[in-house]
Amino acid sequence: MIITIDSNSGFCFGVNAAVAKAEELLEQQNKLYCLGDIVHNEQEVIRLSGMGLVTIDHAIFFTMRDATVLLRAHGEPPSTYEYARKNNIQLVDATCPIVLKLQQRIHTGYNSVSEQSGQVVIYGKKGHAEVNGLVGQTQGEALVIEDIAQIDQIDITRPVELFAQTTKDLEGFHKLADELRSRAVYAPLKIHDTICRQVSNRIPGIRDFAGRYSLILFVTGQKSSNGRMLFEICQSVNANSKLVSSPDDLEKQWFIGISSVGICGATSTPRNMLEKVAEAIKQVVHQI
Ligand code: SF4
Repeated sequence: MIITIDSNSGFCFGVNAAVAKAEELLEQQNKLYCLGDIVHNEQEVIRLSGMGLVTIDHAIFFTMRDATVLLRAHGEPPSTYEYARKNNIQLVDATCPIVLKLQQRIHTGYNSVSEQSGQVVIYGKKGHAEVNGLVGQTQGEALVIEDIAQIDQIDITRPVELFAQTTKDLEGFHKLADELRSRAVYAPLKIHDTICRQVSNRIPGIRDFAGRYSLILFVTGQKSSNGRMLFEICQSVNANSKLVSSPDDLEKQWFIGISSVGICGATSTPRNMLEKVAEAIKQVVHQI
């Protein structure tokens, strides 16, 4: 059986840098707080917690004082920085530079559109950590649209500045933008394509990859937005695509009569997890 790992899968550079920063600090100290899961991959969170990384949620963070806290690649709203400043919390800011730049652009867009009684609209997933950080740039006023079906929530009689969460799909964003253009003919409309190419550039490659194997195993954590999106692309090309989070999810019957397996993953899936899945497949196949 041919078993191939997609050479383009694995951490994006933003997640890679955040994990590297955590590892570097944990070599110097035996405990480090991280606000939220450092990456949307349960196995990686468990690995780092074994090194001393303690994941805290926002409810805990807002009771803390005199501590050091790592901010992950997703970024945080201004209220997090303000609380840290007032409570002697030293932040190690591993926010991805692309997300930081997007936060600044939304902040600027919000200031400018507010003067014209306009609105900031974010194409993203409500409640997602990155989106919370983006909405925070608008004093909580931005409207979050998850899908083109929600377009009627946008008041097209007022100016609009449209942005996107970095990991949303380009196709959905373009459809939303085109529909808005056709509707908002009287009020000013500014479209900002802020989708990160670290994810969108993977789409043509993963589409091609998924079509080349009799079975596709897509490895991702359950909370990963881009994982779900990239998996759906695999499924659309290859109906025999399975989503797994670790080698424990493999089922023997998947491999019966299969000649080739392609393994790929999300931007939050560590490369070593793809390798572990490949190794586990060899063991399972050996038993058939
Ligand atoms: S997907 Fe892009 S924006 Fe998001 S963390 Fe990775 S590199 Fe940064």
